[in-house]
Amino acid sequence: MMYDYLIVGAGLFGATFAYRASRQGKRCLVIDKRPHLGGNVYCEQVEGINVHKYGAHIFHTSNQEVWQFVNHIVPFNRYTNSPVANYQGRLYNLPFNMNTFYQMWGVITPDEAQRMIEAQKQEAQHQLNGGEPSNLEEQALTLVGRDIYEKLIKGYTEKQWGRPCKELPAFIIKRLPVRMVFDNNYFNDSYQGIPIGGYNKLIDGLLEGVETRTNTDFFADRNYWEGVAEKIVFTGKIDEFFDYRFGQLEYRTVNFEQQTLDTPNYQGNAVVNYTEAQVPYTRIIEHKHFEMFGQQVYDVPRTVISREYSMEWKPGMEPYYPINDERNNQLAEQYRQLAHDCPNVIFGGRLAEYRYYDMAPIVEKVLKMKIE
Ligand code: FAD
Repeated sequence: MMYDYLIVGAGLFGATFAYRASRQGKRCLVIDKRPHLGGNVYCEQVEGINVHKYGAHIFHTSNQEVWQFVNHIVPFNRYTNSPVANYQGRLYNLPFNMNTFYQMWGVITPDEAQRMIEAQKQEAQHQLNGGEPSNLEEQALTLVGRDIYEKLIKGYTEKQWGRPCKELPAFIIKRLPVRMVFDNNYFNDSYQGIPIGGYNKLIDGLLEGVETRTNTDFFADRNYWEGVAEKIVFTGKIDEFFDYRFGQLEYRTVNFEQQTLDTPNYQGNAVVNYTEAQVPYTRIIEHKHFEMFGQQVYDVPRTVISREYSMEWKPGMEPYYPINDERNNQLAEQYRQLAHDCPNVIFGGRLAEYRYYDMAPIVEKVLKMKIE
């Protein structure tokens, strides 16, 4: 055997695993079918701006060990996610906080805001007549009331899922936190930011000194690849690994429409959500704001934006979000059972586990793994 580990997939899971294993003296080879390393965190440089090719990625965690680990690979900047919602041309701060309530109702104090929300929640509960919410719409109405639901949740959620909120299960929205303070910081985590110089620096740092091959699909020559290493770390699709024996797992996907504009500052923020149903895209991302602040924004004369269209996944498209419904959960479980019987294969990451993970939990998972 030429290697101790063949790592299939150069995303964050594969790259972090390769980093740890190679530092323990293991011989590793990382292959990826894409023409670049980094998986979904990969960025492409356009006009001196790091463009998040597979969707905006903001690293956030409360785990100090994870934060220190990634920062020792590359220091992170102070980017704070504070998205804005555009509903019919009016802007509202997110997540729902005192700024949002002031914009929505003109209320100045937390007491006034609380009274508005409570009155609307009670109205929704009254309509349920003592029953439990039976769909996402009823659930959201009982959690935050009609105004917030109709302006900031309904259209966006329907675009995301491609179905009316009345047809979506209530459990999708368990909680809708409202903040009675003027705080637009989206995450509650202790740490957040973007690697200075972009995510490719993080991936390059993790894979420094590790042998890698891009444009290399494991399934194009499976027999060969299965013979090169003692163990395989597989981060591709678990159903593909087992030849779709029980059927295909489904995903939601996103189509990105990228545009370079002749202005230094298009929307003044990295993330603007479009929350009305009539606008076909869910968000516009302006990439430079992840890494350029203040005057830096104007030092680069052009800007790059991406409109995001949420859509149903079909074979051949990028698989992004696992679908948390009965059919797919059951199918994934059947594949996980098969995975148990493969002692020399480690299935890791969002495709191989068929679970949505943010980046920090992926890193945390790999840091906790015993590598033998
Ligand atoms: P991936 O990054 O998908 O890597 C898997 C790799 O395996 C890919 O490069 C693929 O090409 C390769 N591969 C697959 N099959 C084969 C094969 N047969 N042969 C060779 N190679 C193969 N997380 C956050 O913390 N913050 C965010 O803001 C955030 N935003 C996101 C936005 C979107 C649109 C999406 C989809 C995810 C987002 N995430 C975010 C989650 C984040 O992308 C994941 O946590 C992370 O990318 C998971 O890494 P991974 O290695 O498991 O998967």
